[in-house]
Amino acid sequence: MAKLSKEDILLFLNSKYNDILSLMMEANSRRDGSRVTYSKNVFIPLTEICRNDCGYCTFRKGPEIVNARILMEKPEVMEILRKADEYGCSEALFTFGERPEEFYEVKVALENLGFQSMVDYLYSLCQETLEKTNLLPHSNPGILKKGELKLLREVNASMGLMLETASPRLMSTIAHSKSPGKEPKLRIETIKNAGKLKIPFTTGLLIGIGETLEERAESLLQIRKLHDQYGHIQEIIIQNFKPKPGIAMQDYQEPSLMEMTKMVAVTKLLFPDIGVQVPPNLNRQNTQIFLLAGADDWGGVSPLTKDYVNPEAPWPEIDELRMITEELGFRLEERLPVYPKFINQEFLSEKILKKINSMEF
Ligand code: SF4
Repeated sequence: MAKLSKEDILLFLNSKYNDILSLMMEANSRRDGSRVTYSKNVFIPLTEICRNDCGYCTFRKGPEIVNARILMEKPEVMEILRKADEYGCSEALFTFGERPEEFYEVKVALENLGFQSMVDYLYSLCQETLEKTNLLPHSNPGILKKGELKLLREVNASMGLMLETASPRLMSTIAHSKSPGKEPKLRIETIKNAGKLKIPFTTGLLIGIGETLEERAESLLQIRKLHDQYGHIQEIIIQNFKPKPGIAMQDYQEPSLMEMTKMVAVTKLLFPDIGVQVPPNLNRQNTQIFLLAGADDWGGVSPLTKDYVNPEAPWPEIDELRMITEELGFRLEERLPVYPKFINQEFLSEKILKKINSMEF
């Protein structure tokens, strides 16, 4: 286990001059060989309705908005998955707003399809994905109860929930004051329950939404604590806030390249055993710096669908990713939505293991 105290982390996050270069070199030396991984995915935004209203979100729409996507129906989902199969994708990423059925419009749409809740509908879609395609589901539906996680574990290769921040202070700021689901206690509880249920899990932090350096350090240590207890975290995403026209935080500054670089490097130092991911579409000009700071995963890259959460930022082509990876001497390697060390009976349901064994990968 990597032992870094909050003071150590703060020292790194405050480093200047050549100390930044030393930090990057140290983090880079912790990577596992020269491999940089990615997962070929397809993004399925089942609904744009969300009970939260984060100050930085461009994805969410209220049900009163004329063109809001209330619920994607099964035939449309299966058509996207069929195309993804043709493109050789291996990950079906189901991402959507949190607890959308708290809105009458979604509740009725679900009932019309014969489902009581979004989780029941998601389970059915994941099951069909496993039965009818060559893809593995990875779901990211927001905070969940333990029973819901248990149900979805059966039909998901891995699941995810960004911690974003462990700071309850942000619940009274522009970032999270209208988002009950961003209460850190609730998110930690979901990640903890996923650990108890042995679900390979993706989490991460959102950088630049008003948190202090101290809060960044505390958030990283919180994830470390969860992983030390349950051993289920497969990757940590370090995502930068991006101001966009129309969002409540449109006039806020995004974190600087060096803030992000130091954050990526410290994350690798604290988690040498876990993938550190920076979304390449949000950092097109800077991606190579993050690789040199220890990032070793690009996350899900879609050859087929746009990033609905960041629609203004197209995914780089896989060939372009290969070029920027190999230019530094690293090697680009495709992976499944579940990391190899979790492909076993302890972490995966029988259904998922059977599916993986039948795949040519
Ligand atoms: S960021 Fe996620 S949780 Fe927040 S409003 Fe947007 S969709 Fe909902």
